[in-house]
Amino acid sequence: MIHPPPSPPHPSVPDPLVAARPSSTVPQINGGDPDLPDHTSRSNLFESVTDPRDGKRVALKKMPNVFQNLVSCKRVFRELKMLCFFKHDNVLSALDILQPPHIDYFEEIYVVTELMQSDLHKIIVSPQPLSSDHVKVFLYQILRGLKYLHSAGILHRDIKPGNLLVNSNCVLKICDFGLARVEEPDESRHMTQEVVTQYYRAPEILMGSRHYSNAIDIWSVGCIFAELLGRRILFQAQSPIQQLDLITDLLGTPSLEAMRTACEGARAHILRGPHKQPSLPVLYTLSSQATHEAVHLLCRMLVFDPSKRISAKDALAHPYLDEGRLRYHTCMCKCCYTTSSGRVYTGDFEPVTNPKFDDGFEKNLTSVRQVKEIIHQFILEQQKGNRVPLCINPQSAAFKSFIRLVGRNASYGQQVDRERGPKKPHRPRKERQLA
Ligand SMILES: [Zn+2]
Repeated sequence: MIHPPPSPPHPSVPDPLVAARPSSTVPQINGGDPDLPDHTSRSNLFESVTDPRDGKRVALKKMPNVFQNLVSCKRVFRELKMLCFFKHDNVLSALDILQPPHIDYFEEIYVVTELMQSDLHKIIVSPQPLSSDHVKVFLYQILRGLKYLHSAGILHRDIKPGNLLVNSNCVLKICDFGLARVEEPDESRHMTQEVVTQYYRAPEILMGSRHYSNAIDIWSVGCIFAELLGRRILFQAQSPIQQLDLITDLLGTPSLEAMRTACEGARAHILRGPHKQPSLPVLYTLSSQATHEAVHLLCRMLVFDPSKRISAKDALAHPYLDEGRLRYHTCMCKCCYTTSSGRVYTGDFEPVTNPKFDDGFEKNLTSVRQVKEIIHQFILEQQKGNRVPLCINPQSAAFKSFIRLVGRNASYGQQVDRERGPKKPHRPRKERQLA
């Protein structure tokens, strides 16, 4: 048990969700909600709520300020489409979308997802001990989810501990698809470099490659694997250049071949500096759990040249993950089951998706109004034939407090921590760096 499950809501507090009446008037859900800066629209504004149809606790994710401009509309529509597309136990998906108000009042979108109690960042910085079984079963699930995403042709582009949700049974789900996109097969097409939180950013992005592959996500997983072992951020730099320097301190100076897609300035920076020898054995000092098998797999993820980096599929075949797979499918998964004569295992431990996620819908989106109408229609279509649609109960005290938290421009989780009391101090920066 990582965290106890949340306590049930106080009976006298009205819940923020109500079943929508068939021809109800449109509830005003955005009154007084101040405009938020754009960056908040990507944060995980989750609230834990009760689904009035079955009494289950679920999470409500708010996508605010969707229709500010065409770029943000398209990005949110892509994320919404992905959340409805995903069907995998290690990838967060939409269970439901709240009934939108009349299109004239349609400003934000609320998505219902499974409720997860924690995330890997909170667990890593907590004093909770992490056994090698924990590390193996977490890493197994990250790679299992990533294999599925990559099979869908999707690059997540922001894999970090805070985007890996964990429930009290240690089931892990990848979340936050605000930066995700479909892979670009044409290597001459430029892709944005404004992706991935710096500590987890792959060297090819730091070196200004204009095209990259799903190998950037594997680099992030390698950094997280090391962080799970050492309980400290592997490459904790103050700037992108220092980030690159810390990587070459560990991996050594890359070959010219490994830097073939780098921009001129980045290549010159590497060649100007001293020639560095690799110092990979230092990975054995991360923790006593850094066994030969663990370090071997880690070194296959932390490869400078993205074309030589291991794939999620191949990483899952590494012997280090055998125990994680067994543990997951023996007592945590939903794909296998137990009968009186024993456990019946699925025929496919790490499923992929077919067909891939199709982003063709993005091609003809040309105006905010048009995208707004399409999203409005999309949400109504999702609800067809499903259960009674849900909408916000604006009279709920919980909803009012949610709006206040969002209005204060911080994620729900952070605010709750602050209200419960001071966070545990982080360990000093020096101690968190790789020796
Ligand atoms: Zn299973």
